[in-house]
Amino acid sequence: MCHKQVFLNIDFLLNCEGSNKMSELKAEEKKTKKKTVKTTKTASAEKPEKKTVKKVVKKAKAETEKIEEKVAEVMVAADGKLAEELEATKKKATKTTKAKTTAKKKEAVEEAEVRVEEAVQEIVEDLGPRRSVAFIGSECYPFVKTGGLADVMYALPKELVKQNCDVKVILPRYKCIPWKYQEQMVYRGEFYMDLFADGKQFYVGIMEYEWDGVVYDFIDNEELFTSGNPYTNMVDDIPKFCYFSKAALCALLYLDWIPDVIHCHDWQAALVPIYLRTLFENTKLASSKTMLTVHNLRFQGIYGLDAIRYWSGLPDYVFNKDVLKQNWNDANMLKGGLAYCDMISTVSNTYAGEIQSEFYGEGLDAHLRYHSGKLRGIVNGIDCDIWNPETDERIFKNYVVEDAIENKKANKIELQKELGLNVDENKFVIGLISRLTNQKGLDLVNSIVPQIIDGNTQLVVLGTGDPGYEDSFRYYENAYKGEVCSCIQYDEDRAHRIYASADALLVPSLFEPCGLTQLIAMRYGTAPIVRETGGLKDTVEPYNMYEDNGNGFTFDRYDAGLLLDAINRAKTLYFEHRENYDAMVKRDMQKDVSWKLSAAQYRELYLQLKP
Ligand code: ADP
Repeated sequence: MCHKQVFLNIDFLLNCEGSNKMSELKAEEKKTKKKTVKTTKTASAEKPEKKTVKKVVKKAKAETEKIEEKVAEVMVAADGKLAEELEATKKKATKTTKAKTTAKKKEAVEEAEVRVEEAVQEIVEDLGPRRSVAFIGSECYPFVKTGGLADVMYALPKELVKQNCDVKVILPRYKCIPWKYQEQMVYRGEFYMDLFADGKQFYVGIMEYEWDGVVYDFIDNEELFTSGNPYTNMVDDIPKFCYFSKAALCALLYLDWIPDVIHCHDWQAALVPIYLRTLFENTKLASSKTMLTVHNLRFQGIYGLDAIRYWSGLPDYVFNKDVLKQNWNDANMLKGGLAYCDMISTVSNTYAGEIQSEFYGEGLDAHLRYHSGKLRGIVNGIDCDIWNPETDERIFKNYVVEDAIENKKANKIELQKELGLNVDENKFVIGLISRLTNQKGLDLVNSIVPQIIDGNTQLVVLGTGDPGYEDSFRYYENAYKGEVCSCIQYDEDRAHRIYASADALLVPSLFEPCGLTQLIAMRYGTAPIVRETGGLKDTVEPYNMYEDNGNGFTFDRYDAGLLLDAINRAKTLYFEHRENYDAMVKRDMQKDVSWKLSAAQYRELYLQLKP
């Protein structure tokens, strides 16, 4: 603005004062020149006396010179004046700019100071005693991921490091881990460990990788971790994870890293608390406390008791009905871990309650009720750097709350083009990103697809799993060409684009310990349509049309009619009260779905587990 002002002033000066004076003077000069020429002409024509003529010419010349001098003087003066005025205007503009910049700078500095003070305050508040924690689990983003566990194993340690914890994550070194990570791993040592009941020895290598303040130690054994997939079948998986659990403890001893808390995840690491209190009870590690987090109670690691007794090499006395034994002939690894750990956590408060009931208890409800005194529920968060519509490089157009409505439409159009759907920004696009299994409520979805597709609605499915579901979604894509797209694949990039482009995301699960997709959806301004169970109930506040608040649409009983009703409520709001729908989009984007609060809760539990 200031520059514009300067230019206007210069123009003004050139056009008015200076040029007026100059043109006056030039006119006078012209006149004199004409006069001189005329005089000369007349003189030659009439042939007066030479002297007289010379005199006249001389006078005219002198007059011309005088005028020229005057013109030069005035021009210099005008130039000077112009330069002065220009300088003055410049100074004024610079002064104004400087004043404004200084004010802005001052404001920014003050704001930054306040922020720093707040941050310091927070840190001071958070800084309790430092805790060291070893995470032991079977998958972790970005090395290997089959579901939400991998996201948690990556994001929770990262947040805990910010909250005064030392974290080491111990993982199997699967062959399928991308080479770009493998090649950066550093060899930390190797040893042999006995495992099976007959004392069979196994090689254990330790490869280390450090990233974002978190140390990842990979347990290396080519014989056991060669498969392209972390999970294959129970006959292979059970000995593999017996080995992994014991090797993780041996690695901690080998590295002489004795954590305050050993935080184990799911059945694959559930034997850790049992090994610790049996075969490792006379080691330095005995001072560590254990926490076992249940990410999904459906998966428990059940197999024949004799086989697990042999593979694990654990003493006979833990194969009783209160610890590992289940029914007559089976052993249940998760059940044993739940009994032996110092603290059990699961990934939402509602799920912590649900799993103590018969319907959700997966056969362990009585066991969990017995151990309920040490059971807690902490809802998951998401990594807000990876899931960030403002910076996400995988989506078509980035957006923030202010321009979300417009830019989500642009994303929608590009997604429709990419997937071969009819391109129309006014269609209500529903996304579904999920493992295609019974848990996820897909039988409900399958039974109402024809009612969902009404000419104004499109459905985009991304997932792999049970062949029955894969085929039925393929069928619907064929039956409703241009309106349904079924991507039967696992594709992280496409998942990001669907979250950014869809208007709503379906999560009608039969049970859902926490669920991450509804959290990610909200972060991208995509309204979740969920069943009120587990973490879905804890994280999605149903839309209330009277008060115009809430984050999504919910239904309670596991019933296809109720799911359809929830979808129709979403459509009604979208097509008939768009401003309210758009307001919900913005509300969702502003909701705190980060790990900050949840990590603080975990930290609180670690402090309670004081050695
Ligand atoms: P679960 O762990 O039961 O599979 P969650 O909702 O906890 O379910 O986590 C699912 C995670 O996996 C989310 O990050 C989701 O985006 C991702 N995901 C699921 N299916 C796919 C897929 N087909 N392609 C890409 N990402 C997927």
